[in-house]
Amino acid sequence: MAIQDQILNEIKKFKTIIIHRHKRPDPDAIGSQMGLAQLIKGSFPDKTVLCAGKQYESFAWLGTTDEITDEQYKDALVIVVDTANQPRVDDERYTTGKELIKIDHHPNDDQFGDIMWVEPESSSTSELIYDFFDANKDQLTLPAEGARLLYAGIVGDTGRFMYPSTSPHTLEVASKLATYDFSTSEVNKIEDEIDIPLARLSAYVYENLNILDSGAAYLVLSNKVLEPFKLGDESTSAVVPLPGKIKQVVSWAIFVEQKDGSFRIRLRSKGPEINELAKQYGGGGHPLASGAVVEDEDHIKDFVKDLNDLVAKNK
Ligand code: AMP
Repeated sequence: MAIQDQILNEIKKFKTIIIHRHKRPDPDAIGSQMGLAQLIKGSFPDKTVLCAGKQYESFAWLGTTDEITDEQYKDALVIVVDTANQPRVDDERYTTGKELIKIDHHPNDDQFGDIMWVEPESSSTSELIYDFFDANKDQLTLPAEGARLLYAGIVGDTGRFMYPSTSPHTLEVASKLATYDFSTSEVNKIEDEIDIPLARLSAYVYENLNILDSGAAYLVLSNKVLEPFKLGDESTSAVVPLPGKIKQVVSWAIFVEQKDGSFRIRLRSKGPEINELAKQYGGGGHPLASGAVVEDEDHIKDFVKDLNDLVAKNK
């Protein structure tokens, strides 16, 4: 039986379905979570469909998460979307349901769930949720709001259809979603907009980025640097793609200091695959977008050296 049919069968069996996504969400995490919720609600109005995880004000335009009691998990089907590693799942109760399904597009480094549907070639988990709908179109109904959410997820994870993960199929899915009753340009506009503090931080990034001869680049955003910008940790995500706009930059790391003094590494590349390097530092991710955490500034030096070597070797 095709995996999409198996997933649909499980959804049909349960009265309560709880959908989780990863911590520190991005538009694909929320778009695939809430988009799937809309799809299930639109198709089976009698089911209770709940979305778990912390609510972020900046993502209110994509919907709101639900208050869920421990009791509600007891007989529930739990679906975790867009989350490769179990420690990254937002809300630890994801293991307390009756059954667990993983739907994701990251490399399947941490296998979990009774059913796993993982397609690392897919641009986004939102694209996969559309594929799930498409495979069972005769039995499912996607409301326009669901289409808007999935479109937002695809736009987010493809960098507005710019990254190499954007396949002909991605564009086909986007064009089908665009036939629904919502404004694609409004979604594009919201995802592209930044507020003034972020504009100022963008200027800082361009001003202070260290660009090495190899094409590796890096920047440390310490708490001291970030403090005057009055931004939350989440806001740094909007500046992560910026170094890639510079022609000479091939792969880059932005180190964001955390409250405990450690540094979250946000690693990106236009060519050389950097996820193995992220793994060496206890992280992981996609070949061109990964992350990890290092303890202190000494480890930053080691990481930059390794990144420089990797990029130089690939030149
Ligand atoms: P981010 O820079 O947080 O957007 O992360 C980019 C990608 O790297 C994510 O999609 C994750 O798959 C992966 N990633 C980031 N941080 C970690 C981590 N600490 N451990 C494993 N994977 C990570």
